[in-house]
Amino acid sequence: MRRRISLLGSTGSIGRQTLDVAAACGFSVAALTAHRSGALLEEQARRFQPELAVCVDPAAAADLKVRLADTPVRVASGPEGLLEAAALPSADTVVTAVVGVAGLEPTLAAIRAGKRIALANKETLVCAGELVMDQAEAHGAEIVPVDSEHSAIFQCLQGCRDRGEVRRLILTASGGPFFGWSREALAGVTPAQALKHPNWSMGAKITVDSATLMNKGLEYIEAMRLYWMPPEKISIVVHRESIVHSLVEYCDNAVLAQLGAPDMRLPIQYALTWPERTPGPAQPLDLLNCPSLTFQAPDYDAFPCLGLALEAARTGGTATAVLNGANEAAVALFLEEKLSFPGIAERVGLALKRLPVVQKPSLEEILEADRAARALVTHL
Ligand code: NAD
Ligand code: MG
Repeated sequence: MRRRISLLGSTGSIGRQTLDVAAACGFSVAALTAHRSGALLEEQARRFQPELAVCVDPAAAADLKVRLADTPVRVASGPEGLLEAAALPSADTVVTAVVGVAGLEPTLAAIRAGKRIALANKETLVCAGELVMDQAEAHGAEIVPVDSEHSAIFQCLQGCRDRGEVRRLILTASGGPFFGWSREALAGVTPAQALKHPNWSMGAKITVDSATLMNKGLEYIEAMRLYWMPPEKISIVVHRESIVHSLVEYCDNAVLAQLGAPDMRLPIQYALTWPERTPGPAQPLDLLNCPSLTFQAPDYDAFPCLGLALEAARTGGTATAVLNGANEAAVALFLEEKLSFPGIAERVGLALKRLPVVQKPSLEEILEADRAARALVTHL
């Protein structure tokens, strides 16, 4: 098993864990990209010796160029640099570990170049899932999910010859740090509290999304797009322990689940090695020493983001891009302490109510819906 990886978002949580997997499995790295962090990107470039390193921020790229002047690594910048890394001829696989809608155009570039996409950047499928999946089919690009729930479903679907036999996909949700809290108690949540996740260590945006349960809403839409499933065939259960990563219920009532320690290196690795499995760095699961497994219904009243995402999923068209853009802007305001925790759902709800929906949108219409949602949320 050999892979040459272009890693978009190498300095983030998924990016760093991808490099752990690459080192353990002996995969080579063709390109590394980050938004700003020059020092970490320099360290990664020295260790993995890619042909290209990209800092989207031009000033950070200029600094990186100086840092890497004694190496053969070429440095590029801007969104063009990201697109170049996504379509680099020497890479066979692109790991999309950028956060937010910024990952959409590079993912499309990688698809057009026929790469395997190890997809962590769920916002891409939320905003433009139908377009992305259609393009992947047209260009023969494989999309293999990195998100742990979708990887679990992907694993449970191996050997399924007829998707008509699938009755239901069941996504598990950890419930986040505020599971069991009332609406009233949630009103005073601070960014520091929201950034403490019980089971996973992740980037700031997805950690807040996990606290509002918007993350599960985004994953619901991601599952619809990845597996061409209607909303009524997907359900969500809260599973506090994050051991059962998701399940597939078949028409004969068999339920298949994938279990594992909460360690993203396993789904990252599977996205790279599929259809093969190889030994890797992920933690093993010790059944005799793991907590009892529990399952509960989500609280839609205390966590309105989840209901808003399901509503956008049913509306379809640009509604999911509006949901995502509004959420990205609202989470940024919350992290800057300019918006309360319940304010995130309020602003996303307003954006969904006020902005028009275009069905079967073009890429330009999707990007326009994203821009309009951000502007509305930011200037309220
Ligand atoms: P992170 O914030 O830790 O890392 C994000 C990476 O993207 C960094 O390298 C950053 O430099 C880069 N980046 C940020 N903004 C950018 C921009 N505008 N243009 C180009 N690059 C940019 O985030 P993360 O937790 O690693 O998550 C990455 C993606 O993976 C997200 O879409 C998230 O939903 C998804 N995901 C993450 C996890 C997890 O465990 N962290 C699990 C499942 C899915
Ligand atoms: Mg997930």
